[in-house]
Amino acid sequence: MPAFPTRKVGDFTVTAVSDGPYCGSLDALVGVERADVERLTGVKTGGPLWLDVNSFVIRAGGRLMLSDGGSGHTLQPTLGRLPEGLRAIGAAPENIDLILLTHLHSDHSFGLLDRAGRVVFPKAELVVHEAEAAFWLDREVQPGDTERVRNNSAAQRRVLAPYRDRIRRIKDGEVLPGITAVRRPGHTPGHTNWLLESRGERLLIWGDIVHCAAVQVPRLDAALIFDVDPDLARATRRQVFDWVVDERVAVAGAHLPFPGFGRLERSGQGFQYRVET
Ligand SMILES: [Zn+2]
Repeated sequence: MPAFPTRKVGDFTVTAVSDGPYCGSLDALVGVERADVERLTGVKTGGPLWLDVNSFVIRAGGRLMLSDGGSGHTLQPTLGRLPEGLRAIGAAPENIDLILLTHLHSDHSFGLLDRAGRVVFPKAELVVHEAEAAFWLDREVQPGDTERVRNNSAAQRRVLAPYRDRIRRIKDGEVLPGITAVRRPGHTPGHTNWLLESRGERLLIWGDIVHCAAVQVPRLDAALIFDVDPDLARATRRQVFDWVVDERVAVAGAHLPFPGFGRLERSGQGFQYRVET
C-alpha cells in the first residue's frame, strides 16, 4: 500500500494522511458483551486496542482542504504525525486553505496547535457545524454536565481561540461546490459528515460514525464512552449505514483502518466493511 493512498472522486483528489495510531482499550466500548468484543477484536481485556487516526487532504479547483486537524502532541506519543505527512505530499500546513471539522474532540482538533501553543495552519479557515460550535464553544456549563463534557468544552475553547477570526459556522447544506455538510449527531451534538460529489461520484467523509470497525460494523449498538449521546449515536450509525449501502456511497473514516477508505455491504441481517485502497 502506498504511504499516502489517494483516490479520485470526480474532480476531487482525496489523499489519506495518518496522524498515527491511538492506543485505546476495550473499556471504551459499551453496550456489547465483553467476550464478544474480545472475540471480534482479538484483543484481551487489559490489552491495547489500536485505532488509526486519519485525516484526508482534498484537492479541487486549486484549493487545498483538509478534513480534521489531527491530535497534536498532548494526547499520546504515537500521535501528532499529521503535519509531517502533509509536508510529504506537498500539502504543508501553512498552505492549507480550509479545514472541514467533523467534530470538536481532542483527536480531531488538538493538532491545530503545536507544542508551543502556536497555530499550525496559519491561513486555514475552520469550517464547523453551528450545532457543534454552539455546544462546545458557546454553551454555559450545566449542572448535569459530565466531567468529560466540561473538560472538553474548556479544551476546545482554548485550542480554537487563536483561530477565532476565521471560524466559519455552517448549517446543513452545500458549503463549497460539491461539498455538503450533513449533521449526524450522537457522538457529539454537531458531529458532521462531509459528502463530496463530483461527476457522478460520491465519497462520504463520515468522521466518527465508527471508531472500531471490527466491533461496531457487526454490532451497531456498541457505543463509545466518548459518545455524548450513545443512544442517538446508535440510531445515527444505523441511519448512515443504511444510506451509504442503499446509495452505494463510498466512505472515508477518521478511525477506519488506514487509509480509511472503504464500503459497507449488507451481510445477512447486518453489515460488513470492505477496505478500498
Ligand atoms: Zn475521533
